[in-house]
Amino acid sequence: MKLYNLKDHQEQVNFAQAIKLGLGNKQGLFFPNQIPKISSKTLLKILDMNFIERSSKILSMFIGDEIQEQKLYQSVKNAFSCSIPKIVYVEENIACFELFHGPTLAFKDFGARFMAQILSYLNHQNEVMTILTATSGDTGAAVAHAFYKMKNVRVIILYPQGKISEYQEKLFCTLGKNITTIAVNGSFDECQKLVKQAFNDQELKIEIGLNSANSINISRLLAQICYYFEAFSLISTQQQKKIIIAVPCGNFGNLTAGLLAKSIGLPIESFIAATNANDTVPRFLETGQWSPNNTISTLSNAMDISQPNNWPRVEELFKINNWNLKDLGFGRVSDNETIKTLKKLDHLGYISEPHAAVAYRLLKKSVQKDEFGLFLGTAHPAKFKQSVENILKKIIILPKTLEERNHLPLLSHKMKPDFNKLRQFLLKK
Ligand SMILES: *Cc1c(COP(=O)(O)O)cnc(C)c1O
Repeated sequence: MKLYNLKDHQEQVNFAQAIKLGLGNKQGLFFPNQIPKISSKTLLKILDMNFIERSSKILSMFIGDEIQEQKLYQSVKNAFSCSIPKIVYVEENIACFELFHGPTLAFKDFGARFMAQILSYLNHQNEVMTILTATSGDTGAAVAHAFYKMKNVRVIILYPQGKISEYQEKLFCTLGKNITTIAVNGSFDECQKLVKQAFNDQELKIEIGLNSANSINISRLLAQICYYFEAFSLISTQQQKKIIIAVPCGNFGNLTAGLLAKSIGLPIESFIAATNANDTVPRFLETGQWSPNNTISTLSNAMDISQPNNWPRVEELFKINNWNLKDLGFGRVSDNETIKTLKKLDHLGYISEPHAAVAYRLLKKSVQKDEFGLFLGTAHPAKFKQSVENILKKIIILPKTLEERNHLPLLSHKMKPDFNKLRQFLLKK
């Protein structure tokens, strides 16, 4: 597999380099040189396969001979077996595609676990690696659990203090061992900026063997392509004819993966990019102006991002496919509307959480009778227990994974959003 840097097309790397580097020169994102294409005949064939088999097939089309097929299959199996997605119907032509049945109850398990598998496979020399990542809530848990107790890997996770849910925090800040968590007194965007600064610091990068596990890492995006195919395999041929998928967006990694699935040949009619009040992309699509505001805290906190990192990849996908950005559905949903929507879903017999509700709201507005709408269920409602209980006046039962961690003490360090402090911390440890 060959990839190029979106900010410097001269910089070309293979898959192993892209996954290890995370970002290229000038903090540019890596993008596949070639998107594999499948015929409708092949599509039918792979839709017949089971999730693990099919996913491994799709990933090998991208990665090629850099990873042996059998090894890749094993990695995919280790990464995905515990997170099989489900479709749950909410209305006749609308369903939630639930991606939160993995160990940390969010779709981020797919990308994080696949990345961990591949990194450990590629680390032939058993070099010591530092995974540094910023989280708006769910990445932290997914990455921490994916790398927990892995040999020669230490994981440092930055998150905005007080801006993630109590249960999100419990999931990954109680692990210890090779997992270090830092509560930053600032926003997610500031955490993300610190991570980028660290990656720009060549000396630091080499000294501690720096790697990122953010959704900027191409391995995570590739893993996420696979479940769009799974969604397709779970619906009727009638429903497949006109399928609209609403994606709750923060860093726009999930949407990028969906667009990649479409580029390969999965016939998705259209996508809706759904944001909360942090609506840099919706405003950009309306006005053509890219003007991020300060990040606002909302109920759907994992989407409280005003500088979405993956957007250049979305633009690139539209460009190389000759698609028109005007065909991308979009919208923003306020917290008030999110609350109303959660209540409405509850009336329909479906208990959801704020992120999926944002996507459902926009999907409901746009889906026609002859279309089939899917909204992505990106996290389990229990991760947002307090807000969901307050809104629905119902008790949400904690799944076992959360119950187990709930009584453990938080082990996080605290830090100001100051790069020099972070640098010292990383070198000292
Ligand atoms: C991370 C996250 C999102 C946003 O996904 P992106 O790929 O960053 O756009 C949405 N919902 C939940 C629950 C998340 O954890």
